[in-house]
Amino acid sequence: QLVNEYFRTENLPHIWCPGCGNGIVTRSIVKAIDNLGLDKDDICIVSGIGCSSRASGYLDFNTIHTTHGRALAFATGIKLANPELHVIVITGDGDCSAIGGNHLIHSARRNIDITTIVFNNNTYGMTGGQYSPTTPTGDKGTTAPYGNIDANFDLCELAKAAGATYVSRGTIFTANMLIKQVEEGIKNKGFSFIEAVTTCPTYYGRKNKKGEAIDMMKYLKENAINIAAYDKLTDEQKIGKFVIGELYKNTRPEYVEEYQKIIESFSKER
Ligand code: SF4
Repeated sequence: QLVNEYFRTENLPHIWCPGCGNGIVTRSIVKAIDNLGLDKDDICIVSGIGCSSRASGYLDFNTIHTTHGRALAFATGIKLANPELHVIVITGDGDCSAIGGNHLIHSARRNIDITTIVFNNNTYGMTGGQYSPTTPTGDKGTTAPYGNIDANFDLCELAKAAGATYVSRGTIFTANMLIKQVEEGIKNKGFSFIEAVTTCPTYYGRKNKKGEAIDMMKYLKENAINIAAYDKLTDEQKIGKFVIGELYKNTRPEYVEEYQKIIESFSKER
């Protein structure tokens, strides 16, 4: 039913590899929109470049597939010109935090009412498995055959520090949680950032001997834990674990509304 209602079936089948987590994240976004009962015409999906960003071509909303790293710049223009739209950005870890890193921090700083969902698979999948800003230190990529020496970003901490007013992290193993997180992100009047930890068995998985897609899923099951459980762990037990759930929520003026106030006051003066 979701497929017939929300997907451009003429563009299917999709190009994603067997075992890729992108389909679960995409379904979570669609399910969240469905749960909220939003009209398809009131949604605009904006994507950048990468495997995950192909999702905009499969979805039957207002959609735009933009240039590498620039989805948030396009989304900002769309939101300013159409404040009534729910603007949702679909992006990957490289697209969002390397090429598009500046757009991410400034969108968060402005607290513009855009919901950003990052498909974080720790690699550049579409271009062949290069390491990205979220590839864990020591892990391999085609451009880091002996191990990545960079410190990896915690994207949620980055978004929170830059000013996002809703921040959460889910995984493809916790799909029901991810659906709720996308719902909360859309409902938040401001910049929402949702990190969806997903899998790339073809490149990141193979390069790092993570096993098959099912093994990567088991890894998420065993190592993604909520904040309360995480806080009870010793430093040694925390190694390899990461926190999921709602990580930050705040209220402050939203950019488009503030911009509208300026326009209105200017109109009155004239
Ligand atoms: Fe998914 Fe990786 Fe294949 Fe891209 S390369 S479709 S991220 S499994």
